[in-house]
Amino acid sequence: MSRIRIVALVFLAACYGRDNPPRPHTAPTPAPTPIAAAPIDTADTKAKLIAKHGDAHRARIEQGVDQVAKLWRPEDGDRTAFGAFCDEQFLADPNARDALFERMQTMLEQINGHNLEVGRATRWHTEVDTGPMQPIDALLAGYDPSAHVVDDLFASKVAFAALLNFPLTTLEARLRDGTSWDRRAWAEARLTGWFDTRVPSNLAQAATAAEVAADQYIAGYNIWMHHVLGEDGKRRFPSGKRLISHWNLRDELKANYADDEGLHKQRTIARIMERIVTQTIPRGVIDNPHLDWDPFANKVTAGQEVEADAPKRTTTLDDAREPDTRFQHVRAHFLAAREIDKFSPIAPTLIARAFDAAEMPEQRVRALLVELLESPLAADAAKEMTQRLGRKPEPHDIWYEFGVPTVESELDAITRVRYPTADAFAKDIPRILKDLGFTPERAQYLSDRILVDPSRGAGHAMGAERRGDKAHLRTRVEAGGMDYKGYNIAVHELGHNIEQTFSLYEIDHTLLSGVPNTAFTEALAFLFQARDRALLGLPSQSAEVERLRVLDAYWNTREIAGSALVELDVWSWLYANPNATAAELREATVRIAREVWNKYYEPTLGGHDTVLLGIYSHTITSPLYLFNYVLGHLIAFQVEEHVAGKDTATFATEFERVCRLGAILPDLWMQQATGKPVTAEPMLRATEAALRSGR
Ligand SMILES: [Zn+2]
Repeated sequence: MSRIRIVALVFLAACYGRDNPPRPHTAPTPAPTPIAAAPIDTADTKAKLIAKHGDAHRARIEQGVDQVAKLWRPEDGDRTAFGAFCDEQFLADPNARDALFERMQTMLEQINGHNLEVGRATRWHTEVDTGPMQPIDALLAGYDPSAHVVDDLFASKVAFAALLNFPLTTLEARLRDGTSWDRRAWAEARLTGWFDTRVPSNLAQAATAAEVAADQYIAGYNIWMHHVLGEDGKRRFPSGKRLISHWNLRDELKANYADDEGLHKQRTIARIMERIVTQTIPRGVIDNPHLDWDPFANKVTAGQEVEADAPKRTTTLDDAREPDTRFQHVRAHFLAAREIDKFSPIAPTLIARAFDAAEMPEQRVRALLVELLESPLAADAAKEMTQRLGRKPEPHDIWYEFGVPTVESELDAITRVRYPTADAFAKDIPRILKDLGFTPERAQYLSDRILVDPSRGAGHAMGAERRGDKAHLRTRVEAGGMDYKGYNIAVHELGHNIEQTFSLYEIDHTLLSGVPNTAFTEALAFLFQARDRALLGLPSQSAEVERLRVLDAYWNTREIAGSALVELDVWSWLYANPNATAAELREATVRIAREVWNKYYEPTLGGHDTVLLGIYSHTITSPLYLFNYVLGHLIAFQVEEHVAGKDTATFATEFERVCRLGAILPDLWMQQATGKPVTAEPMLRATEAALRSGR
């Protein structure tokens, strides 16, 4: 699986304003492929190559031949063909090897870049606001020209030439030795990283099927709130309100802090979430506005005032619980992953592959999560929260919001006049970049490589993947001009585009273009976004608004850290109990969620044995991604701290410098950018300062 392509997908998804994680594309191929019945005998091939090139090349020959043999299949050729291939393609001469490296690097840049352009064209009318959509547009959007690239490169044996001549690396080796590698060694690691697994197509298809099924399950997991009754039997939510679990439920809970009856509503939502995690929710009430439900007594009654456009659903009083469907989906992911494990020698579990993708070892990520959870700042933050709430904290206050964003209509007026169209924003990019500290030449150079398109969605940034192509900034402009929210997003996306442009055009090896992972480009985009008011000539946010922003970031990150830790423990348990039923998996998940809660959250929020940490829908649709959100927040604080207080010219030169570090290890990138590996300290320091200045 190509890392580079995943990063590109991540860029896109990160900016759609969804908090659904992106998913690496597991490409199915036309026909299931049998696996090598007997392993290739490599001894003979190795001996011949050593005789031909000399003993000085023994180590490289043995490693290269083994790397090819591991992924060679019968349809690639018999023993003789294998030997002939190795004889023809192994390069002992350093100059010839350099030439191969250059050929491969150029080829992959061209393949990536042109495929991205084809995909951009097929998705053009779904993403860019070009007027009414045609029925064909949905079909075109599903077409992915790069779906079979890696398979095709294996079939044409290009992949084997790379594996024969350049070393495949494990995460462990990259972590251990990576600091002493030069840039070329890093680029070689990225080259072979394209070809580190060759998953048989039937297994990739099975994994995709599990993902699609889980997506569909969650997409239909709505609760019709008008039909959910409070503890006192009262109906508090408006007719027609349909909330998807868990994103909408959580956002509604957050919004209810400003509501007179908010506490009742929040307790009701928290009870719904608990019923979902424990699977004591009656299956009849899922996406069903025809039944009323009291989640406290867990009682189902005949529905009242059914919404006019309500879907057809059962009206029988079905109060049988949901039969562990939630956990059947997790189990399906696990079973599909276990089959793939056998073909992923570099990272032989889904857990290992998740950390391999993030390029940080599990133990280190766990330590960061625990550091956040154990910090005594939680007690101080809870104290301030309690004062502001004027009541005792409850478990659902895990989603408390310190700063309620205020709508500033005078800002809308300013941005609407300044940016009546997407084109007006495009024309202003050189000025924006100069105000951020870039020289006029640099500002022009960058704006020449960015195109602005009016988008259907909230906005996103689509980088180029080959030099010669341009990055696209997608921004939404309403009929009356760009409102402040749209402008704020556009400045964020511009940050992505600048990062994408520097890290492609100014990189020493295009195999290293990009950033270590999605969290880094988000952190860099936030640097732009945080300066959006200054770019309008307005004073920056008040110190109090900024203080509350920091507290919110800390509180949110601490919340996700708990859910991420629960998920890691659940997956460790799954691998230790591979034959577990869905019911056993539910029991284990509930037990682990309670343990983590009781240890890290009960001291500040009470609620012994609360299971709310198990509610994240990501754990059902995209397993083992949650921890990346925590890393993203930490990285944003660390990068922000590094540029804080610097003059604009230094900001601009530092921005360019760190973008040119490229896709190396996260810790190495951060070390070279800020002088320290990824750490929780900047966030904790900022939180401590925010709490202190609030006293
Ligand atoms: Zn973004």
